[in-house]
Amino acid sequence: MEEGNIDSLAAKDLAIDEVLDLRTGEIIAARRLIEPDKEKVLQLRMALSQGISAKRPLMACPLCGVPVHLVSMMKERKFYFRHEIEDGRCPAETKGTQTPNQILAMKYDGARESEAHYRMKHIVADSLAADPDFSGIEIEKIWRGSESKSRRKPDVRAIWKKRLPVAFEVQLSTTFLRVIAERREFYLREGGLLFWVFKEFDMGNARLAMEDVFYNNNRNAFVASEGTLAASQEARSLVLDCVWSEPELEDGKVLWSPRSGRCTFSGLTKDQEKQRVFHFDADAARAKCKSQLVEQPLRDAFRHFWFFEVHDHAVWLRLRAKLADHGVHLPFYLSEADALRPLLDTLYSAEAGKPVAGWGQPNIVVLAHHVFTKYKGFLWAFRIMLAAHEHVDVIRANDPTGKWRSKVDIYKKAWTTGSTEFKPDRRYDRLVCFLFPEIADRLLLDPS
Ligand SMILES: [Zn+2]
Repeated sequence: MEEGNIDSLAAKDLAIDEVLDLRTGEIIAARRLIEPDKEKVLQLRMALSQGISAKRPLMACPLCGVPVHLVSMMKERKFYFRHEIEDGRCPAETKGTQTPNQILAMKYDGARESEAHYRMKHIVADSLAADPDFSGIEIEKIWRGSESKSRRKPDVRAIWKKRLPVAFEVQLSTTFLRVIAERREFYLREGGLLFWVFKEFDMGNARLAMEDVFYNNNRNAFVASEGTLAASQEARSLVLDCVWSEPELEDGKVLWSPRSGRCTFSGLTKDQEKQRVFHFDADAARAKCKSQLVEQPLRDAFRHFWFFEVHDHAVWLRLRAKLADHGVHLPFYLSEADALRPLLDTLYSAEAGKPVAGWGQPNIVVLAHHVFTKYKGFLWAFRIMLAAHEHVDVIRANDPTGKWRSKVDIYKKAWTTGSTEFKPDRRYDRLVCFLFPEIADRLLLDPS
């Protein structure tokens, strides 16, 4: 509701312009609560007063933590929030004497008084207690810095594997950049690790303060809940939900998609120097995307050569020189590259889901039988290429009698038993990794 809206039931000047919801730890704009709906306002008014009488206040001033109630102005039926006790301590009454940073710091401390924050600290501490890798678990214990007077009071602290002190800080909604920055600096200096834990993290709707943490933590955020506490106790290991972003190349651009999953603290990468803890290495994935972006034109040029200019020696030499810059070394004449033609024809066919380039078989299964007979060393690359391009169904559709299926069983058995008959031919691995980055990681593995 904008100020001055005639429908608003809020007074024109609101000394307390935001309130802290003591259950959720959220800070809500006062004007949003004093809606044009009179019934709701009067119900809220009753609930607040009742809460105060029952010594279980619902809302408080985010600056001083004193419970608030909703009162009406004398002359007209307009409402505003007032402290339960007005004794002049609250900076909301003496605006102007505090710097914006001091006011933010007060709000931050205020939110730490909420029930949600209290419960979150205990969820973290109880989860830690289930994990034998952690010792010295303490809630709100002062952490003294090496410099005189420097100290912090993390929500929960613990020592991981007897060597790395970790400060767990719960973030509800109000942590602001300076608090984050100061804490990082402190724990870096003290050889500790700062680990932010969220109550929830919705990437589509993240507040700036959440993004400050997320983007400075390699695009990973961790969420603790009753669910992760139960999982931690069952696994006897600190379990958390992780939200992260993964980059992908699309039309020459890096696009990020949200991902989430459960993980254990022990499986996370801990980067004390940068004060980062992450499950997915977004920086490395982005670097990989960027280098692919640089490599893509050469990859496309090679493909064009292979399909349309394969007899042009000058083009081959040009590509050969460029590939050498990427650590891929090939003979002077293509004809000297033994079995390279059938290998790449097979892989381009696996990519397409049908025989292409130099192959003329009627379908991919007929080609597969040919590879099985003549080029056993290519079956590993052929298989993972088909999987990477999701052509497993094409194979099934073209193998009604199951003849190919039985050959798959043969080569798979040879791999698992260590027989050398179908051992992958590794001569062109570098080139294949360059041309087909989608299989680069798996190609280098042992098929068994
Ligand atoms: Zn106050």
